[in-house]
Amino acid sequence: MPRPPWNEASRRAAFGALHQFLPRAGAEYAAQRNFDYGPGKRSNVSGLSAYIRHRLIHECEVLDATLRRHSVTAAARFIEEIFWRAYFKGWLEHHPIVWKDYRSVVQALVDSVETDSDFNRRYRQAVHGATGIDCFDAWVTELKSTGYLHNHARMWFASIWVHTLQLPWQLGADFFYRHLVDGDPASNTLSWRWVCGLHTKGKTYLARVSNIASYTAGRFNPQGRLAHEARPLKESRIHATRSLPLAQHVPEGARFGLLVTEEDCAPESLPLTDSPVALLGAVTTNTRSPLPVGRPAREFAIGAVADGVERVARHFSIPAQSARCENWDDALLAWARSNDLDTVVTAYAPVGPVAERLASATQSLAKNRIELIQLRRAYDTCTWPHATKGYFKLKSRIPDVLGQLGITGEPQNAKRASN
Ligand SMILES: Cc1cc2nc3c(=O)[nH]c(=O)nc-3n(C[C@H](O)[C@H](O)[C@H](O)COP(=O)(O)OP(=O)(O)OC[C@H]3O[C@@H](n4cnc5c(N)ncnc54)[C@H](O)[C@@H]3O)c2cc1C
Repeated sequence: MPRPPWNEASRRAAFGALHQFLPRAGAEYAAQRNFDYGPGKRSNVSGLSAYIRHRLIHECEVLDATLRRHSVTAAARFIEEIFWRAYFKGWLEHHPIVWKDYRSVVQALVDSVETDSDFNRRYRQAVHGATGIDCFDAWVTELKSTGYLHNHARMWFASIWVHTLQLPWQLGADFFYRHLVDGDPASNTLSWRWVCGLHTKGKTYLARVSNIASYTAGRFNPQGRLAHEARPLKESRIHATRSLPLAQHVPEGARFGLLVTEEDCAPESLPLTDSPVALLGAVTTNTRSPLPVGRPAREFAIGAVADGVERVARHFSIPAQSARCENWDDALLAWARSNDLDTVVTAYAPVGPVAERLASATQSLAKNRIELIQLRRAYDTCTWPHATKGYFKLKSRIPDVLGQLGITGEPQNAKRASN
């Protein structure tokens, strides 16, 4: 059985992985990053995505450490990849309707898989890795057992799912989201849309046999099994753009508790002027999909929140509580009341299940005169406004953003940058 490319869901492990990878973050990464040598042979990429996704480590910390070791030019490729995540996060913040539509289509497709026998058979072959396409079936096993796939494998997988197997992209995205340890509403949904020609309108991605054979170092050769063309999907919906929500601040003198969610497991570095008096960790991994979430993904998210809670409790010397409940409204209210809070503070939750939970909890807390505040980090505030159209706009602003955040690779700037 393939082994996952990480040890544990902790901030300590995130820094361990970063420091192991750093010597290779320059020219070596640029030359080698597209090769998928197989499970257990991942030293050509960072393997940081699950840590970054849950913000056990912050992008600023990764960028700062990279620039202490390499010049901007030498590490350009790695830095650009780090910013791809900010691009997708920012783009979805501007177009939340894309996520809402995706969620309702997944629910409808999950229902129709049960009633349409041919669809059911084709879908089951795919998710059980029984298509007879060697690489695809191997990636299914790897994904389910480790929670990880190499970026190139994700692109080939999505292309085969949509263009060869002719399955709906939303169910493929759902399958990834249920199993990826770094499963992310923005990076995942928008990458799938990109493969179909829906993100960059009309531009699709076709997995080719020769490309798979070369970049898997000959491990796979699905000769005669793949589609020869990738027709762009079309949709009639025009996705309205919304302005970014305004930044919030903790009211002066508030008696507040800190909420740790799987969106940000290092809230001790949020811009807080006072100390919280209580701490709660809450997980909502099961709401990723109407279908069951894979064990590696679930366990990583639970472990990441537990690590955050333990560290933050020590940092502020405050009592901690954990909630693995479905109903956040009741859990948050009970916790806030038992600690006599007037404010609940948490890291800003971008579009996704945590944001949905918080939206509902905000209302139920407000009815009880308790305010829920979401604090956005400077990195998100600096990057998201440039993520309205294509990636190039943000890419061209990378030097400005690094300057604005004071990410220079100089030791004294690292802490400021992650706020
Ligand atoms: C169909 C599809 C679905 C994907 N779903 C997700 C997902 O749910 N969550 C996720 O974090 N990434 C997703 N990606 C992006 C990418 O595949 C992973 O971030 C990357 O493979 C993680 O491995 P790594 O940390 O070793 O990456 P590295 O190559 O070492 O990159 C460093 C970091 O940069 C960021 N990054 C790199 N490439 C991308 C990218 N294309 N898009 C966004 N961020 C990127 C990640 O945070 C990553 O950890 C998806 C890509 C595709 C094609």
